Amino acid sequence: MRAAWLRAHAREGPDGGALNTVTLLPAAGGGAVTRIAICAKHVVDVARVKIDKETNEPILKGVGKKVSVADKNAMEEALRLKDAVGGAQLVVYTVGTPDAKDSLKELLAMGADKAVILTPSVPLSQLDSLATATILADAMRADGVPQIIVCGDASEDDTSSQVGPRLAEALGISNVSIALKTTGHTDRVEVSRDSGNGTITIDARFPTLITVTEETNKPRLPNIMQIMAATKKPVELRGPETLPSLQHPPVGLVPVRVVALPSDRKGIILKDLPAAEMAQRVVADLKKAGLIGGD
Ligand SMILES: Cc1cc2nc3c(=O)[nH]c(=O)nc-3n(C[C@H](O)[C@H](O)[C@H](O)COP(=O)(O)OP(=O)(O)OC[C@H]3O[C@@H](n4cnc5c(N)ncnc54)[C@H](O)[C@@H]3O)c2cc1C
Repeated sequence: MRAAWLRAHAREGPDGGALNTVTLLPAAGGGAVTRIAICAKHVVDVARVKIDKETNEPILKGVGKKVSVADKNAMEEALRLKDAVGGAQLVVYTVGTPDAKDSLKELLAMGADKAVILTPSVPLSQLDSLATATILADAMRADGVPQIIVCGDASEDDTSSQVGPRLAEALGISNVSIALKTTGHTDRVEVSRDSGNGTITIDARFPTLITVTEETNKPRLPNIMQIMAATKKPVELRGPETLPSLQHPPVGLVPVRVVALPSDRKGIILKDLPAAEMAQRVVADLKKAGLIGGD
């Protein structure tokens, strides 16, 4: 299916060989940008998860949730593209439970116009990336496919890096992953990405989906007025009755057990010492462990 819209124009790069300009053409049509979407996942704050010493399982009870880190970069990039193309409505989509509302406030404060929370009939632990992408695609199709969709490259907890590309496939639109930089135009987004031996510049005609990383940009911090205004922005809760894929998600995953990887961390904590002394101790310990060379 991709061959229908992908046309590559090879041109020699500065190193004489790299493919550095690619144009992704849409399946059909173009027109003004009226809708931009980002996908955001409401994740457990992984840094606060402790491991049960007996079972080696993560203790999730009482651990707070937040927006997955790269999704703030997705929001920042979407806001910049919105400024560049002008006038579009920017909607955040989340597959999750209604408590995601608290995290989404942060994205609304950054500048999103509206958030949509899609809650399936099954526990979220039964969703895999196919089910999540199918739900997101169906919701976007029902609302009108956005001309630009921005996702994080990988979620902070499960990190499969599949939802963005699967969503693009489900919608039959182009996808540029791991963008270094984007520049919005009225009919396309110019995306730079690292090819490993140079930078590739891609012209992605609308509609297109872009994934970004923490390195793509620095998310803006909303000010107090924006935080207050966000409380008045619409957050739409859509339950299983609103979409067939929320009622019967295409689930193929049966979680068996979630366990922490074995770790041989020593857990040494240096405190109440002058900084220079702590640095000397760290260097001495690293040398002793053979991790850095001796003198
Ligand atoms: C034990 C267990 C518990 C789980 N609990 C949850 C849970 O609490 N919440 C949950 O959503 N899933 C949960 N899942 C499902 C699992 O996280 C899915 O596989 C997930 O929806 C997609 O995979 P990923 O996180 O690796 O996404 P990736 O492909 O790594 O994410 C890339 C990007 O896709 C987008 N994206 C990913 N997930 C979502 C989403 N849910 N909504 C909107 N955009 C998204 C974001 O832009 C994200 O940056 C659980 C699975 C298991 C096994």
